[in-house]
Amino acid sequence: MFCLFQPLNPGKGAKVENMGESESVLLPQSATLTVSKAKGKMYAAVIVGAGPAGIAAAVYLRRAGVDPRVFERDEIGGLLRNAHLVENYPGFPEGIGGPELVELFKRHLVRWRIDIRMEEVHTVSKEGEVYKVSSESGEAFAKSVIVATGTRPKRIDIQGLEDVEMSRVFYEVRDIPPTAKGNFLVIGGGDAAFDYALNLASRDIYVDIVFRGEPRCLALLLERASRSEKIRTHAGTELKSVRGEERQLVFMMEQEGTEKEIVADYGLIACGREPDISVLPPELAENWKEASGLYLVGDVRRGNYRQVGISVGDGILAAMSIIESMGNEK
Ligand SMILES: Cc1cc2nc3c(=O)[nH]c(=O)nc-3n(C[C@H](O)[C@H](O)[C@H](O)COP(=O)(O)OP(=O)(O)OC[C@H]3O[C@@H](n4cnc5c(N)ncnc54)[C@H](O)[C@@H]3O)c2cc1C
Repeated sequence: MFCLFQPLNPGKGAKVENMGESESVLLPQSATLTVSKAKGKMYAAVIVGAGPAGIAAAVYLRRAGVDPRVFERDEIGGLLRNAHLVENYPGFPEGIGGPELVELFKRHLVRWRIDIRMEEVHTVSKEGEVYKVSSESGEAFAKSVIVATGTRPKRIDIQGLEDVEMSRVFYEVRDIPPTAKGNFLVIGGGDAAFDYALNLASRDIYVDIVFRGEPRCLALLLERASRSEKIRTHAGTELKSVRGEERQLVFMMEQEGTEKEIVADYGLIACGREPDISVLPPELAENWKEASGLYLVGDVRRGNYRQVGISVGDGILAAMSIIESMGNEK
């Protein structure tokens, strides 16, 4: 037996069942999501990553009668689990929280009985006409591979960061334990930093946001932050160093030539993201457009255009292309 998948909605009576070879979780509305371990086998398509892009591709393939093998190393839903309020994805005129939208995506996976392998893919390589997808438990082979691995946060290098308790410094809001109390310093001036600050403020947490120059976020987010009594913004501020002191973090910074200090219980770093293509060897990463049957979809390839709708569209496009190529082979 291997480790249990987390109950999706423990507060609402979700229950975990043990089904021997695989395990399942009873979702709200009594749908069952199955997760299991991988074995070497040939598949029509393999999908690496179960964020919005990978999920959309999986649903399209499955509905067309193709059974994809989907790998996810962390949790289903990807980066979307961090989003405080998604107001720009069509179909949700009042907006919807990222985690709530992820629950709906999960139900869609359940509806089509799509099996998610909770396992990290290490490499995708090409052997003749076939791709080999290597993960901890073995190898899967496929003529088509969809890489929907998203992005990873850019690390920052400030003096003292490596010496402070890393349980107090985060790169994503989803990693913050619900028990975390006290005030936060958010570092970054883009949409994610402001979305994180609004998210924390909605949990009754005080937040300082620091960034160099002017804010680069949507005007709407800036306006909401400036209306919140719990959020203070510090533009034109360069973070210099951090040190731990009596279970708190002392951040030193410079604003218009003047040194200042902010003491916080936690730090949250949102200084940009970069594509996560670590599963691809350089020859495939550089020539993937030419390599037939290999698709990069969603945030992993979209630079600054990182949005759920774009990722979903990319996933669908790749799936339809695979379905078409299979039809042509008949
Ligand atoms: C704070 C915040 C707010 C946001 N708000 C909005 C918004 O309002 N509207 C909007 O449209 N977008 C928003 N986004 C962006 C949106 O979340 C992303 O565009 C979207 O999640 C990208 O989907 P994706 O599937 O391409 O990648 P991701 O969501 O990053 O998913 C990639 C998945 O691949 C998995 N993975 C990676 N490598 C491997 C591997 N080797 N093996 C197995 N699995 C792997 C990861 O664990 C992850 O689950 C927001 C993002 C953030 C951070």
